[in-house]
Amino acid sequence: MTDDDEKWMRMAIEVARSKGSDPSQSPLGSVIVRDGKVIAAERNQTEELPDATAHAEMMAIRRGCEDSGDLELRGATLYSTLQPCGMCTMATIWSKVGRVVYGAGRDDVHPMYFEAKHIDTLDFISNAYRDDIVIEGGCLRAECAELYYGPDARLPEEEQANL
Ligand SMILES: [Zn+2]
Repeated sequence: MTDDDEKWMRMAIEVARSKGSDPSQSPLGSVIVRDGKVIAAERNQTEELPDATAHAEMMAIRRGCEDSGDLELRGATLYSTLQPCGMCTMATIWSKVGRVVYGAGRDDVHPMYFEAKHIDTLDFISNAYRDDIVIEGGCLRAECAELYYGPDARLPEEEQANL
């Protein structure tokens, strides 16, 4: 992790906070950087669109591909305030992102942010056919984790997005 990583993660946190600081608003932010330039900065938009696939990372990948006119984002780093879910992790593999950096990890937040009980998205990356993608977590972990429901938060079922 470098100073640059923290700089871009700060931007992802700002993008997330543009939704407010209440965890019920799903404040997730994702920034994609290539050659030192931001090519996408998006937040979760599932409720607004509405679109169940409009996670911050999915939106950032769509924007990055649209703006560069290229379906491959080789050499790019995707930053996310939260460890990407399975869908978004797969999307990073398919979009040929080279590196994924996230803030808060699975153990830092409530299980509602993940779809599978025992399959960790890190395993998707380590099992990918591609060997040119890496994933690293814990960048500004505490600041990112503050955006979300904590591991032991007591949430009513209707608040739990994965049920
Ligand atoms: Zn996701």
